Amino acid sequence: MILGYSIIEAVSRSSLLITKVKSVHLVTRTKYQEVQIVELEDFGRALVLDGYIQSSEADEFIYHETLVHPAMVAHPGPERVLIIGGGEGATLREVLKHSTVDRAVMVDIDGELVELAKKYLDFMHQGSFNSPRAEVVISDGKDFVRRSKDGSYDVVVLDLTDPYCSELARSLYSREFYRDVRRVLKEDGLMVTQAGNSFFYPDTYRTVLNNVRNAFPIVREYWSWIPSFSYACNFIVGSLKHDPASMTSEEVDRVLRGRGVKTGIYDGRYHTALFSFKVFVGEYSKG
Ligand code: SAM
Repeated sequence: MILGYSIIEAVSRSSLLITKVKSVHLVTRTKYQEVQIVELEDFGRALVLDGYIQSSEADEFIYHETLVHPAMVAHPGPERVLIIGGGEGATLREVLKHSTVDRAVMVDIDGELVELAKKYLDFMHQGSFNSPRAEVVISDGKDFVRRSKDGSYDVVVLDLTDPYCSELARSLYSREFYRDVRRVLKEDGLMVTQAGNSFFYPDTYRTVLNNVRNAFPIVREYWSWIPSFSYACNFIVGSLKHDPASMTSEEVDRVLRGRGVKTGIYDGRYHTALFSFKVFVGEYSKG
């Protein structure tokens, strides 16, 4: 079969995703990672870091809405939000949809990547970098949290590269880091992190889950299938008071309406479904 140019991504140590490339916008290496911005036949324009698809035009809304809104909606009035990672600016875009937010601080380690996102990924950030409510800080997220005062934020969103990929983000899935995130949250704050994939990397997932459990009294897990990832992406919420799984579909829709949040897939029914699905932790893969 003639594949032509393709992205070959290791979905696990033994399974690959091979997806055809229509055209290449950019291949470069920043101080921190290899960056590819390509047009994929099946998924449109995509950001690929160190060989892993991070987000694509076709389905980024599923990932970013699923990451951001359950924790944001569970908080009764999130005003100050911290985002770590999310270099494309799509997580920032979703956070700013909530009219209650008066400050969204996005911290990414890779300033070159953020500049490339501004240039090539406008459909992802949609101008959110320029919002008067947004502040973009180029720093290691761990150092930034360490420098932050106690009780600074209502919600913290961790949109980092996978825990089993580059070293860059690995320590931001640790017990120590989650305890520091808890310190910078207000007393009724929530944290949410993307957590890779529990089917193909069960041991890594269990470690991250236990690390969140060690720092937060309320922990909720959920997942959503992301076609361009070729796996179900896991998410974990750590909360000090509000439980996202306790909200009804009507309550979620009321909050979204009240805050003027318009979404593509996320709504009350989707929210309640997320917290009703069992999380499947693989037995076969040795990830
Ligand atoms: N959606 C992707 C996923 O599910 O894997 C994650 C998207 S986003 C592109 C990942 C971001 O994490 C990148 O912008 C990268 O620069 C950032 N990042 C990695 N390690 C970091 C660190 N220690 N501090 C801050 N940002 C970091």
